[in-house]
Amino acid sequence: MIIDGKKAAADLRSDLKQKVIKLKAKYNAVPGLTVILVGEDAPSKIYVKNKEKSAIEVGLNSEVIRYPADIEQKVLLDKIKELNSNNKVSGILVQLPLPKHIDKKKVIETIDHGKDVDGFHPINVGNLSSGYESSIPCTPLGCSLLLKKVEKNLNGKHAVVIGRSNLNGKPMTQLLLKENCTVTITHSKTKDLKTECLRADIIIAAVGIPKLVKGDWVKKGAIVIDVGINKTNTGLVGDVDFDEVSKVARAVTPVPGGVGPMTIACLLNNTVECFKKAQSN
Ligand code: NAP
Repeated sequence: MIIDGKKAAADLRSDLKQKVIKLKAKYNAVPGLTVILVGEDAPSKIYVKNKEKSAIEVGLNSEVIRYPADIEQKVLLDKIKELNSNNKVSGILVQLPLPKHIDKKKVIETIDHGKDVDGFHPINVGNLSSGYESSIPCTPLGCSLLLKKVEKNLNGKHAVVIGRSNLNGKPMTQLLLKENCTVTITHSKTKDLKTECLRADIIIAAVGIPKLVKGDWVKKGAIVIDVGINKTNTGLVGDVDFDEVSKVARAVTPVPGGVGPMTIACLLNNTVECFKKAQSN
């Protein structure tokens, strides 16, 4: 089975569109997403454009604030504080990476954790790892929703997560624990990654190495979720050797068209969730 992330994302956006219509009728207001883009990083510009387009498509109020790369940190932090107290703004996202002179940690901590649609604020990270309600980072949330398309009950499954980044590997691990998986988290110092992978019912690859996971690393019938997006001479490829792995896995996500489309859909979902929480407070 090839897990169709494009379709799953389109379905999620369509559900969100209906939710936004209902929220508008109930509160006479719609969720608002503000994205801040600093500098001219080409991939970031594309991501932000796609986020804006998708937000408008589901009926959110969408705003993009653009700053030059040499903006003073204080100007950025003051703008975030202003957005924190603007009740028309439900979600704030500062597009990463930021220029070197800006302290990423400080920026993330300045965002009101109730508007932190990326789920990077330490309060959200802590809540997620404590099993409390929190904003969940968009890509791991997308992976989790795709996994559920294949297998609703993950109780007792052995999951191997490759990569331990704050963006992907660590929050993914927390989500799998919440689903009662037994989780092995691996990284660049892991001794025998192939053997670890061969024990897995579920593999989540979030590494950034093209086609790292080979067909003979995967147990027959395993589910494989490929987070990687790597530019190569032959185009975009994931961290999983799709041609080999699709022959042994029960289900696998393609790249492109797997996890990628879910990330933006989950951002919209998080914006709607932040709006709902703010209304109920
Ligand atoms: P990252 O911050 O660079 O982290 C990579 C992780 O992989 C690190 O934990 C690193 O270990 C580990 N690693 C490196 N080499 C390894 C090896 N040989 N064996 C096992 N583990 C190894 O990357 P990231 O931000 O999580 O992104 C990972 C991939 O996902 C990238 O291709 C990125 O483009 C993609 N991505 C996709 C989406 C999407 O929407 N689909 C979103 C975000 C990122 P150490 O901790 O020991 O260094």
